[in-house]
Amino acid sequence: MYTSLNKVLKSAARFNYTVGAFNMHNLEMLPAMILAAKKQGAPIIIQTSVGTAEYIGHEVIVSVCRSLADSQSVDVVLHLDHCTKFSEIKKAIDLGYLSVMFDGSSLSFQENILRTKEVVAYASARGVSVEAELGTISGSEDGISAEKAYTDPEKAKIFVEETKIDALAVSVGTCHGSYKAKTELNFELIKKLHETVDIPLVIHGGTGVKEEDIKFCVDHGIRKFNVGTELLVGWTKKATEMFNNTKENSSLRNNIVPCNELVSEVVCRKIKLFLNN
Ligand SMILES: [Zn+2]
Repeated sequence: MYTSLNKVLKSAARFNYTVGAFNMHNLEMLPAMILAAKKQGAPIIIQTSVGTAEYIGHEVIVSVCRSLADSQSVDVVLHLDHCTKFSEIKKAIDLGYLSVMFDGSSLSFQENILRTKEVVAYASARGVSVEAELGTISGSEDGISAEKAYTDPEKAKIFVEETKIDALAVSVGTCHGSYKAKTELNFELIKKLHETVDIPLVIHGGTGVKEEDIKFCVDHGIRKFNVGTELLVGWTKKATEMFNNTKENSSLRNNIVPCNELVSEVVCRKIKLFLNN
């Protein structure tokens, strides 16, 4: 079913797995992502930036997610990734997103709490879940770039209690946009955050995480695991190859299906690891 973040993360905590949150950049790749989750018997979080939502149209993305969630019997959460503006969060909620991330990580601690609380008030009254960020995850994502600052566990505890968010994005060594170099995770910090904070934790920049480190994350409270770059780079490389090697008057489908198949393979492989069986 088309559902909220809160519901799928509760189930993930109960059965000790993590839910893959995959960034889509065009409509083409969306069915492949949802069908890959179905194949693995797992829920999926589909994430869009504000830019992607505006490019495709919020209503169109909501419709496709709803329709496939129902017809394929898959739990699908549509989530607005990194959003710094309340007006854009409000728009996504009003048009049918059931999960949003307010990113106040560049604000002061108090300001981040205040602004996050406003978002939670609006979202929770409408059955929508909220993810927020504390500490700063470095790197660059869809034009937003930042310098790394680890999440402080004591501040995280206060932040979660004050804001009543559903999930917390933590800075534990990962960075956005990384796919060549692999991340050195701060395992001690993940452990400490898991002990201190009693809501689901979120890893951003998941492409850079070594696949052998995923189990540790799952066993220490990471319930949402973001993967964007691997899909973006994979799709783009395959598209370049296909478009360079097919006839101009060949159906576009012939170029795009292989790109979607690659997306499907990546989503399947990641979900298998996230399920922690
Ligand atoms: Zn992120």
